[in-house]
Amino acid sequence: APNCSFEFSAPHTAEAYAKVQRIHGRLSALQPAPEFFSVTYGAGGSTRASTREAVIGLSRQSQAPIAAHLSFGVDSRELVGELLHAYRQAGVAQLVALRGDLPSGVGSSRQLAHADELVRFIRRETGSHFRIHVAAYPELHPESASVSAEIRYFKQKLDAGADSAITQYFYNADAYFRFLDLAAAAGVNAPIIPGIMPITNYRGLVRFSKQCGAEIPQWILKTLADYQDDPAALAAFGDEVVTGLCQRLLAGGAPGLHFYTLNQSLPSLRIWEALNP
Ligand code: FAD
Repeated sequence: APNCSFEFSAPHTAEAYAKVQRIHGRLSALQPAPEFFSVTYGAGGSTRASTREAVIGLSRQSQAPIAAHLSFGVDSRELVGELLHAYRQAGVAQLVALRGDLPSGVGSSRQLAHADELVRFIRRETGSHFRIHVAAYPELHPESASVSAEIRYFKQKLDAGADSAITQYFYNADAYFRFLDLAAAAGVNAPIIPGIMPITNYRGLVRFSKQCGAEIPQWILKTLADYQDDPAALAAFGDEVVTGLCQRLLAGGAPGLHFYTLNQSLPSLRIWEALNP
């Protein structure tokens, strides 16, 4: 059975937090138990309080570690330092360190240019306390200058002190395997966990994929378009595609799977069950 981790979007309301707690409870019952859960962070600081509350709250009730996503955004070093110390004190021991995307209008006041600087800051402030994951982009980041630059900057984040990486989602396994090969050739030997996005919504997926640079292969896109008004058929097709992708990734040596749950348990659970019949 594969190692799995699950990501929650930072819940903004008490109701949303209660939902995350329910999903966390359901996913915690899986055997083998999840490796970790993570909670996202709004890079403009918009979820500073809600991410912190969710991470610390879930940590109290979770057997598996809870990883806090973190980025500098426009926050001061003192503010980020305080957050790190609060997490350490609460026993949180994993972070996903990101540069993040600032909401429009605050771009010029960014504190740090890139995620490697945040990784260095975390190591300076808290030594080896945290296991640090960073982001990886098998299909490149929208700002990537070139494949070689992407690999070079990716390696810089690991050299700065990160322990492992989680990828942006993708539907093309070859892009992931090529990225692994290039990273290994550049001297990276940290685990690179593929990020898995279940397919549940045609329009949302197309919009978000354009923003983040994830490519949806034409045959998948056209089939999803055919099914866009038939949620059951779309979900069945999406499950088949994503389960097949996960099987290929695992057979090719992926060290685990990181599911973007978007705070829905069923799509990830259906794929998990198909992988563990
Ligand atoms: P970086 O590593 O800084 O990379 C951004 C771009 O800059 C890349 O093109 C890279 O090649 C280039 N680059 C990197 N270092 C350098 C350097 N030293 N000099 C010049 N160029 C460089 N967003 C959120 O807002 N909240 C979240 O919780 C969140 N979680 C995520 C989790 C995962 C697993 C992933 C894959 C993404 C997540 N994102 C999240 C999205 C992420 O914030 C965006 O993709 C963002 O644009 C880049 O963040 P990064 O940490 O990858 O940045």
